[in-house]
Amino acid sequence: MVHGHKGFQFQNWARTYGCCPEMYYQPASVEEVREVLALARQQKKRVKVVGGGHSPSDIACTEGFMIHMGKMNRVLQVDKEKKQVTVEAGILLTELHPQLDKHGLALSNLGAVSDVTVAGVIGSGTHNTGIKHGILATQVVALTLMTADGAILECSESSHPEVFQAAQVHLGCLGVVLTVTLQCVPQFHLQETSFPSTLKEVLDNLDSHLKKSEYFRFLWFPHSENVSIIYQDHTNKPPSSSANWFWDYAFGFYLLEFLLWASTFLPCLVGWINRFFFWLLFNRKKENSDVSHKIFTYECRFKQHVQDWAIPREKTKEALLELKSMLEAHPKLVAHYPVEVRFTRGDNIPLSPCFQRDSCYMNIIMYRPYGKDVPRLDYWLAYETIMKKFEGRPHWAKAHNCTRKDFEKMYPAFPKFCAIREKLDPTGMFLNSYLEKVFY
Ligand SMILES: Cc1cc2nc3c(=O)[nH]c(=O)nc-3n(C[C@H](O)[C@H](O)[C@H](O)COP(=O)(O)OP(=O)(O)OC[C@H]3O[C@@H](n4cnc5c(N)ncnc54)[C@H](O)[C@@H]3O)c2cc1C
Repeated sequence: MVHGHKGFQFQNWARTYGCCPEMYYQPASVEEVREVLALARQQKKRVKVVGGGHSPSDIACTEGFMIHMGKMNRVLQVDKEKKQVTVEAGILLTELHPQLDKHGLALSNLGAVSDVTVAGVIGSGTHNTGIKHGILATQVVALTLMTADGAILECSESSHPEVFQAAQVHLGCLGVVLTVTLQCVPQFHLQETSFPSTLKEVLDNLDSHLKKSEYFRFLWFPHSENVSIIYQDHTNKPPSSSANWFWDYAFGFYLLEFLLWASTFLPCLVGWINRFFFWLLFNRKKENSDVSHKIFTYECRFKQHVQDWAIPREKTKEALLELKSMLEAHPKLVAHYPVEVRFTRGDNIPLSPCFQRDSCYMNIIMYRPYGKDVPRLDYWLAYETIMKKFEGRPHWAKAHNCTRKDFEKMYPAFPKFCAIREKLDPTGMFLNSYLEKVFY
């Protein structure tokens, strides 16, 4: 018999969204998950599964029953020949990496953090960069889903293929993801080289940068021309690093937080801070190499608000220049560094922001120094307007202002996804207020 707790308070990693679920469950088996759903049906409660709680929005919040999958975190099977691994959906990537290392395997791409679950990263369409690589959900070859009625669906390209495709980016609204099978690659090492450049150079030579490096991304420092280019590529070199803890941490973290806090009283400091930190930390070539997961993940510093939309790749230059002009035309709007620009291959997943188009993701950020919110809504609105103009689609995990009407325009397969959702969850058991805005 599964026991629930009352009085649990949930907060996401950035402490920007939270909720007080009526009951909080940590099931340890499929049977216990089924019991929670049976109870929810009986008492007409809504249910939300939470993974690592890292989404910078209220996508994982609920006032009903919350299920935390942390006890369902085992590796169930490793198929060495196919290089596929089947895991329980609550496993954190930090728990998965060492197990893959043991078998000489790795994931071909990862996001910036690994304190996140397999079901969470696929469900929200988490991505990294690399124009030959899709979002993380494209690495999924099968999954099992417990639907609202307690039934279990085994999904893959050969079994319930339409549900499988939809469930790759599931938003947590199709059921409880129980297991996921991931296609891996042989373990590999990456060399990261970062070097300074300018916005004009990087935008004029985008195609050549994309060809030169498998995992190319760049950081633009708003209120300046400065850019830091980051190449990551396969290497046989032994692990090494030219990073300097003292500089990166003492300055990149503590001094930055203090100065950003000071700039809340004097916003005109922000442009200077962006230029100063570029000069201090990004103005020379740096090289690091290590096993892939240690290079893919990086320090995300302190708490923050973010937005991250995907636009067609060929619109990168126009859109970024428009964002820059908008900031120049509105000197009162301040933008923290960096604007992080990444590239992803198109796919066929109905609710993937990269559905049927190679994409550029443009992540904007406003930190919360010492937990203090910095006014950002005008910047957010101007950014969203530009992203919409360039046919953008918002990252599902990150707070946005879009509703069903927008998604109907953005996603050709939106009606297909809705039909699948309504069939699998006719009473809306897995909805919450974030998802109501998406589907109602
Ligand atoms: C510091 C930081 C860095 C980040 N870097 C990146 C990045 O580089 N690229 C990127 O794209 N995103 C990034 N993100 C966003 C992050 O990858 C996503 O928010 C991801 O969903 C987090 O996974 P999680 O396990 O914490 O999911 P949660 O936030 O807990 O949940 C996400 C969604 O998945 C659902 N869900 C979780 N588990 C299940 C399950 N078993 N069954 C059904 N539904 C489930 C939840 O209900 C919710 O809808 C970052 C976030 C932070 C805070």
